Amino acid sequence: MDSYLVKPGEKIKLTDMSTSETNQFSGNKKAGLEQLSKLNEKLSNLQELLYAQQKHKILVVFQARDAGGKDGTIRSVFSGVNPQGVRITSFKVPSDAELAHDYLWRIHQQVPGKGELVVFNRSHYEDVLVVRVHKLVEKEIWSKRYSQINQFEKMLSENGTTILKFFLNVSKEEQKTRFQERLDDPSKNWKFNPGDLKERALWDEYSAAYEDALTQTSTEHAPWYVIPADHNWYRNLSVASILVDTLESLKMSYPAPAPDLGKIVIE
Ligand code: AMP
Ligand code: MG
Repeated sequence: MDSYLVKPGEKIKLTDMSTSETNQFSGNKKAGLEQLSKLNEKLSNLQELLYAQQKHKILVVFQARDAGGKDGTIRSVFSGVNPQGVRITSFKVPSDAELAHDYLWRIHQQVPGKGELVVFNRSHYEDVLVVRVHKLVEKEIWSKRYSQINQFEKMLSENGTTILKFFLNVSKEEQKTRFQERLDDPSKNWKFNPGDLKERALWDEYSAAYEDALTQTSTEHAPWYVIPADHNWYRNLSVASILVDTLESLKMSYPAPAPDLGKIVIE
């Protein structure tokens, strides 16, 4: 899964990156799902440790194009965790109050506290993506945001936050298929947003914006992973695997018991 990591300073070209590979699984969905189920269990145990230890803070960021699979990934990867220690936050079009502040204001309020795992469904990266593509602010403003974001994330990291960022990389063809399903399947109609077609027409503009964001903001302390996202099962498996590896690398343990616990007798 390391091959999906954007190395700091590496220049990203999305057309060079696979959207559909399934790596060592060679398209074997059944084997992939079995592996995913093992990872779900591991993640559940790791999150229990995270919550018990009350030491680390975990921030997981998801960005994708429309129908890229953010919602489905979150549902699948976090299906086994304890809701008490996990929080999912979606960032929508900013409210008036949010717009009256700097773009990181609403973000900072939602970052994880000790023992918590927070998932961002969209994030501060919208402020160099949709905002850039639709020229919602001038270039002079958004172009400064890459280094501001790096500094903000570095500050979080230096204060005990582990940050992982995933770009779910879906192809233009697969996006079309998924939009069509939303039109054809009554149970998916609610997901269809005519506005998404306008965004689709700006595919290349979004590619350029994503390439700049990935190139400029993948750092040692807050790396980006570009995940092939045409196959849902492989996408979920890849994200779960990277998350489990990262949590394992923290070498978490249960807090030490109170000194005389062994002497306590319950009548
Ligand atoms: P959804 O995630 O499909 O519910 O849609 C949320 C919408 O909010 C998307 O179209 C985002 O591009 C948009 N959005 C999120 N953050 C911002 C932002 N900072 N500025 C403008 N639009 C945003
Ligand atoms: Mg949408």
